[in-house]
Amino acid sequence: MARPVCNVVWFKRDLRGRDHAPLRAAAEAGLPVVLLFTFEPSYLACPESDPRHWRFVWQSLADLRQTLAPFGLPLLACHAEAPAVFDQLLAEVEVKTVFSYQETNLALTFARDRAVAHLLRQRGVAWREFQQNGVLRGLRHRQGWPQAWAHYMAAPPDHVDLARLRPLALPPELTARLAGPPLPAVYTTALPGFQPGGERYAWRYWHSFSQERAAHYSRHLSKPEASRRSCSRLSPYLAFGNLSVRQVVQAARQIADAQPQLARPLANFEARLLWHCHYIQKFEMDCRMEHRPINRAHAKVEKEWKEDWFQAWATGLTGYPLVDACMRCVVATGYLNFRMRAMLVSFLSHVLWQPWQPGAVHLARQFLDFEPGIHYPQFQMQTYAVGAHFLRIYDPVKQSHDHDPAGHFIKQWVPELAQVPASLIHEPWRLSALEQSFYHCRLGIDYPRPLTDYVQAAARARQIQKQLDQDPEVQAENLRIVRRLSNPLPAPEVAE
Ligand SMILES: Cc1cc2nc3c(=O)[nH]c(=O)nc-3n(C[C@H](O)[C@H](O)[C@H](O)COP(=O)(O)OP(=O)(O)OC[C@H]3O[C@@H](n4cnc5c(N)ncnc54)[C@H](O)[C@@H]3O)c2cc1C
Repeated sequence: MARPVCNVVWFKRDLRGRDHAPLRAAAEAGLPVVLLFTFEPSYLACPESDPRHWRFVWQSLADLRQTLAPFGLPLLACHAEAPAVFDQLLAEVEVKTVFSYQETNLALTFARDRAVAHLLRQRGVAWREFQQNGVLRGLRHRQGWPQAWAHYMAAPPDHVDLARLRPLALPPELTARLAGPPLPAVYTTALPGFQPGGERYAWRYWHSFSQERAAHYSRHLSKPEASRRSCSRLSPYLAFGNLSVRQVVQAARQIADAQPQLARPLANFEARLLWHCHYIQKFEMDCRMEHRPINRAHAKVEKEWKEDWFQAWATGLTGYPLVDACMRCVVATGYLNFRMRAMLVSFLSHVLWQPWQPGAVHLARQFLDFEPGIHYPQFQMQTYAVGAHFLRIYDPVKQSHDHDPAGHFIKQWVPELAQVPASLIHEPWRLSALEQSFYHCRLGIDYPRPLTDYVQAAARARQIQKQLDQDPEVQAENLRIVRRLSNPLPAPEVAE
């Protein structure tokens, strides 16, 4: 019997029903479609993965199903490796074209894409991949990239007429076989304290940001507590594609035009949407930075691994209150603003003098918005592994005084210090024996003494980095980085 003919839309980090080029192309192609997502065991188990990411995906798929249901369109979520899913599907149906977005992700997913591409080629199936946000595949340098970004962001969104999509009715036995075993409950049970996934929530966050929260955006950007409200909090929705960057850019421009008092904070916000694509573009062009320094000559920097120091950092027990509060907060909620992320990385790399790779993996698991194309370049910038920029070592005590002067954020996340007054909370190691007993915070018992002295450690790090800056191999690498990866726009890498 002839196999039924169809197309496939393969969802990846684009879990939405609007501004969606693959869906649009499938609707225009006219053939019945299979809408597919794969929870791949190898990806679920990779070191950067955490159940929080997959819960967000699970919730996003539930939301997408709600969007598709009125059109009678089922979404098949398979708990299996993608090549195996395609292999089984192609045995039963004749697929003409697979539509998906290009994916700039880990080496693991790149290898999987190559395996899928090989399989599809062998079976004579076309695979049409579309540009994801402002990221261009195959670039050799960044000349012209900002113009291409601006052009793409101003273009009309890829409108999807869901009524034009016709589902291919797969036999229930095949659907069950493709779906694989159920996902463990840890991936499907919502946890309080985390942003929920899905296009509907994404727009709710956008509306509350643009209508209520954006006014204080620039002023609160660096504050660990106030940023939780005044920043957009769109990052997980952008990372998993509940929103496209273009949708947000265009929505922000509309609001800025209608409400001139928001024009400045929204311009500041839009600059960050450009950075979003800028960093992913870097990663797209040099994905080996997942494993080695962007400035390859920095591989010669010797760091002494101290497991106990790393664990103290990873669990919020370094003895530096703001560092510990930030780590505990991100472990519990998946979110931290830019400056506090940068401070955590700077502390690990420059103050504790630990290698960056285990830290990058640890924080990847904590960030609900884990986006490899932003995470790895940003992580390396903060550890100075990029080389070709200004070295910034965040002083955790100064950050604490500047951005949490009353110690509210610290007290929320480090309850051991709850009774210490604001004037003493930033440097608890200065508490006298009497004060320790008075404020119920015995150093070394209730709360740790600092792992190391910040001032001395930072001076040593600066000294080593200065020597590195004069190293001809480092300088040659810097030139290569500037020529190949830097964006010709003015200073996109300046931290807020
Ligand atoms: C070490 C380190 C790791 C990071 N890892 C990630 C990551 O895995 N995923 C991620 O989305 N962001 C990452 N960032 C960037 C930034 O911290 C977050 O995007 C931001 O805090 C998210 O909050 P928001 O959505 O409220 O941002 P807003 O300030 O409201 O910005 C809007 C959007 O712009 C983008 N954006 C904001 N700041 C940056 C930036 N500095 N670089 C690139 N894009 C930016 C994000 O998509 C964000 O959602 C990292 C930063 C550092 C220092």
